[in-house]
Amino acid sequence: MAASFLNRSAPAQMTFEDLRGLRAEGYVRDSKLDQQDGYGPDIQRQNEIRFAESYGLILGDRWYTEFVSGRSVKNRLEFRGALGDAAMDRYDVLLVDHTSRFGRNQEECIHYKRQLQDLNKVVVFVSQGIISGSERDFLAERINETLDEAYSRNLSRYVRSGFAAKAAQGHVIGHAPLGYRQEKPPSGRGARLVPDKGTMPALLQLLRGYASGDHSFRTLAQDLNAKGYRTAANRSFTESSISTALNNRFYEGKAVYHLGRSDEEVRDGAHKVPEDVRALWRRCQEVRQERAGAGRVSPPGKEQQVYPLTGVLTCDGCGEPFHGITHRSHGLRSLRMRHSWRRCPMRPQSVPAQKVETELAEGVLECLNLDNGWRQAVLLALAGEGPKPDNSMDIKRTEAALANLRKQHLWGVIGDEEFKDEYQALKRQIRALEPPPSQVLTPNLDRAAQLLQDLPALWHHAGVTSQQRRELAREVFLEVRLREGRLVAVKPRPQYAPLFAYSLWRQNDVGGKRSS
Ligand SMILES: [Zn+2]
Repeated sequence: MAASFLNRSAPAQMTFEDLRGLRAEGYVRDSKLDQQDGYGPDIQRQNEIRFAESYGLILGDRWYTEFVSGRSVKNRLEFRGALGDAAMDRYDVLLVDHTSRFGRNQEECIHYKRQLQDLNKVVVFVSQGIISGSERDFLAERINETLDEAYSRNLSRYVRSGFAAKAAQGHVIGHAPLGYRQEKPPSGRGARLVPDKGTMPALLQLLRGYASGDHSFRTLAQDLNAKGYRTAANRSFTESSISTALNNRFYEGKAVYHLGRSDEEVRDGAHKVPEDVRALWRRCQEVRQERAGAGRVSPPGKEQQVYPLTGVLTCDGCGEPFHGITHRSHGLRSLRMRHSWRRCPMRPQSVPAQKVETELAEGVLECLNLDNGWRQAVLLALAGEGPKPDNSMDIKRTEAALANLRKQHLWGVIGDEEFKDEYQALKRQIRALEPPPSQVLTPNLDRAAQLLQDLPALWHHAGVTSQQRRELAREVFLEVRLREGRLVAVKPRPQYAPLFAYSLWRQNDVGGKRSS
């Protein structure tokens, strides 16, 4: 009975009430970090039991329990057990306490959930109240996965104690900056950052280049790339990687803890900085100040910033990107977006970051108008034509021929070879007659539409960080173009383009009717 119910209703439309009477099993992650946080296996199990009781699920007693040491999950044996049982239809619903306990990252989560979905099973994250794959929970699910990966309360709770201890000892948190690498001491506990022979030359070249005063971020990046230098991540240099190095107080021997947050702290680092690096980095700061005119651009200080439009904001004149700078005047700090392509005549060269962000929110995001007609109009436009020819009769005829062929083969009238050839020919014919699978596009479009509709609210939400705003902007836009200090055009990513087109078309349409 339970299984037949699932066949009728896809998770997309499912509600909690639909779960009643279904067979459930619990998945639990057992890790030291979870235990330290008071979210050990017992708590997870309790949450799942409570959920099953509240919503009338029939909870089994398999309890797939994954033992996690550090960051690695060994072979996911228990998860495979859960998959195997799903394949044998031993349960309908898998209960998981929290999205962050299901996979190490978004990709892994999506992967596992898809595997279960393919087996027609439902995953419920009980503490967050999310039915995986449900349309209603789509955005919450997606945001939670993103949060789990980077900025989640849960994740930061996992690592906070470790970071605090590290910072207290003056160790730098995170990846090794350019010119350095992580080194594990023989004891195996905690890594130290030590100068790296491989990338130190690139760092020195970068600092010397900027200290010479001959370069903008941009020309310096070009120069370094031309000379074959690469970043710590083995990529080409960009304005932003130059900016990162010049803003990193690591090179003057400091360790910064909770960068850009209210509880940011700067301490003397435990790492060693070669004297020439330290001197060059300081010289670079002087050059920046001289260059900006009497102390207008502040040296990197406590207030390092994430600029939400970095990576998408582009000059409409020369096509070069803008990057964020902190501007200081009469003791007041302001954040600006600037592009430093010397040959570009476009003025002003920089604009207040807040102003462009507001313009984007009010002029673009809040004007998106996806009413009930979008789906039909967009799908029609994508199909590139009006109503499609109806081939259903031909398909029926071919299917009948196919059934006949099977019978003939079964009765031994035709041999294996002949059957195979004929069968494939008929199958090809049917595929050619079937309408193109435009419905394949629909889930992606629905997803895109959902995000666009929620975008203004997300963008303004107090709980959304600048970093997340930047991810949102990059998710939707390839470019946001600026001309003479004003936002003049946006170039959405391909999956969002039809929706933008529809929205514009609607606005013009409505406007036209009003004026006539
Ligand atoms: Zn330009």
